[in-house]
Formats: sequence, structure tokens, C-alpha cells
Amino acid sequence: MSANAPATPIYLDYAATTPVDNRVVAVMLRYLGQDELFANPASRSHMLGWQAEQAVEQARRQVADVIGADPREIVWTSGATEADNLALTGYMRANQARGRHLITSTIEHKAVVDTAKALEHEGYSVTWLTPQRDGRITPAQLGDAMRDDTVLVSLMAVNNELGTINDIAALAEVARAHGAAFHTDAAQAIGRIELDVERLGVDLLSLSAHKVYGPKGIGALYVKRHPDVRIEALIHGGGHERGMRSGTLPTHQIAGMGEAFALAAAEGTADQQRITALRDRLWQGLSGLGGIHANSDPSVSIPNILNLGFDGVDGEALLMALRDVAVSTGSACNSASVDPSYVLTGVGTPRSRALSSLRLSFGRFTTEAEIDHAVAVLRHALQGLRR
Ligand SMILES: *Cc1c(COP(=O)(O)O)cnc(C)c1O
Repeated sequence: MSANAPATPIYLDYAATTPVDNRVVAVMLRYLGQDELFANPASRSHMLGWQAEQAVEQARRQVADVIGADPREIVWTSGATEADNLALTGYMRANQARGRHLITSTIEHKAVVDTAKALEHEGYSVTWLTPQRDGRITPAQLGDAMRDDTVLVSLMAVNNELGTINDIAALAEVARAHGAAFHTDAAQAIGRIELDVERLGVDLLSLSAHKVYGPKGIGALYVKRHPDVRIEALIHGGGHERGMRSGTLPTHQIAGMGEAFALAAAEGTADQQRITALRDRLWQGLSGLGGIHANSDPSVSIPNILNLGFDGVDGEALLMALRDVAVSTGSACNSASVDPSYVLTGVGTPRSRALSSLRLSFGRFTTEAEIDHAVAVLRHALQGLRR
């Protein structure tokens, strides 16, 4: 490679997690360390506690602002996984007198899929919608699945393997017309697409910090007020978060998530323009090689994720050959197994194509030089493996 080749490994796995933006780290450090604002934000008896509480409430407003919510509608959790668990289980349990039927899809994140399966074990009834070839659920499909006892619909805003965007406003309207509540997992959507809970008409919405340059281990669930959406707590204790989620609030994590969301609001549009150009550059760099298929339709996907099938090679072998480019086969949660990605097979991708697919994902810190290097490495690896 040339003398000005970028540092390796090149990170093209932003959909699995993003690096924490240095500006976010700087904010977090104000709440870590013996000389910093370390106090318990629930401590009401001294100034140090109030200052920590102020930091938590400022972050709550920063997060709420990004989705057009009221700060009182934000419940801190340990991440989107917990937010999904709390939304599905908490809502189904609290509303079981009205019905015990949940509708979701086969290509949701495992945090939703496995929670829905656990609810099936508890005796709830679940309808699993199969997406269209483009990865989306249509409002008509959802309408057909609605029943008198349907109380909740959960469909993700942006798929984490394909990048496909669901029309949440149209889907939520179908649920509302049938008197059911609507939950969406928006972990991959923040900073990528416009999200406004009022315009979308959603009741519950899951968020994570570490997909938007914030720290791992912190997220939130939006819980609509007016009319009040009732959920049952899963974690009991000191009654924090208006009884919906007990546990001492991690001030540094929360302040970091607030800063990350504020940066996403300020810079998301510019980030997306640059990332679109990088995605196109990568795609153009590979064109001419032949036998490469995009597993999702770019016209309905965020540019941050490019899921590609490579004819005539095994995905694991390709991954090995790409040693200094960090990408993923399917989702990170499944990369220990050799099963094809359930998301790819879920949208009708043939098993063999699914096994020869890679997810490349880009973000705020991806550079043209990194893309060019990745293209060169990919071309070399593909030519070698196909020979
Ligand atoms: C990453 C991700 C999650 C899990 O979020 P954590 O904060 O890591 O628990 C859930 N849903 C989607 C769509 C994701 O991309």
C-alpha cells in the first residue's frame, strides 16, 4: 500500500458500535474522578447531588429534543436492549386485561425477537410478519394481522443489518386505527433520519447511545404521556424514573448520551451527506468486479450500511482475507455462529448468498483514504479467493 495509507485495521463496522466522540468523552469526564461531580443524582440533601441531578436533567432534555419528546417522557435504561425488553414486556403485562396479542417481524433486532419469544412462553400470542424483499413491512400487511386482542405492535425504524427504513408513521397509524399501541426500535435511526415522536405517532421508542458516538451501557425508552402509556417495571428498587426503572443513575453515561444526541442533532445532516458520498465511492470502487449484489435497496436504506453478497466466495473466508478491514458477517451478535444471518434469509436472500455476504458500515470518522484502502483490499481478496 502507498505511504499515506490509513492506519489499520480500518473500522467499517459502525453498525455494531461507534467510537465515542472525543467531545463526548470530555463531557463524561466531568462526572468521573474524585474531584469531579461524582455524587448520586438522587441525593437531595446536598449541593453535589443537585449538580449531578442537573446534569442528568440537561441530558434528558438533549435526548428528548432529538425526537421531539417532553423530557418527562424519557426513561433511562442500560441500552436499547433493555429499552426493548421494557417496552414489550412492560407494555404487554400492564395491558393484558385488554388483550394478549403482539405483532412484530422476523427481522427485528434480537432484543425484540427474543423478548417476543419469551412473551410467547408466558402465554402471550405473537404474530411474526415476514418483510418484503426490500426489508420493509407494508401498512397493508400490518392491517391484515391486526386482531381485536392486539394491544401492541413493535417494528424497527431502521434495520441494523440491511439499513432499510420502515415507514413508521404509516405503520403506527394502522396500529392506532385498531386501538393498539406502537413501539419502534430506533437505535440505528438517530442522526441518520428525521425522527419526531409526534409526527410518527409512536407510543414507545427505544434508543441507544453507542450507535451515535456515545458510550456503551446507556440508552433510553421514550414512553408517551397524554394519553399516558402504562408499562410495568422490570427492575424494582428505589422507584427511580417515576417507578419505571429503578437503579442509581450513571451520571457520566447519561451526560455522554446527552452530548452525543446534541451532536447528532447539530451534525447529523452533514455526517449523512459525507457518508452517502463514501458509500457511493466504495460501491463504484467495487463495480466492474462483477458478482457483487447489494442485499438492500439503497432507495429505502440509510447510506451508513452496505450489505453485500459476493458470488463464489464464502463470507467467513472473505472475512479472514480482509484481516485489516473490520467488517461483519450478518450482525455482531451472530458472528460466533456459522448460520446464515436470519435477517438476510428473512428477506428471502438464498442461503448460499447469505453465507457469502458482508455488512460494511460507515460513520462520522470514516475517511476517503479508508474507503480506498478497503476497496483495494476487497478487490485483492476477492480476486484471490475466486481464482
Ligand atoms: C445495537 C442495537 C440494539 C441494542 O442496543 P444496546 O444499547 O447495545 O443494548 C438494539 N436494536 C438495534 C436496532 C440495534 O442496532
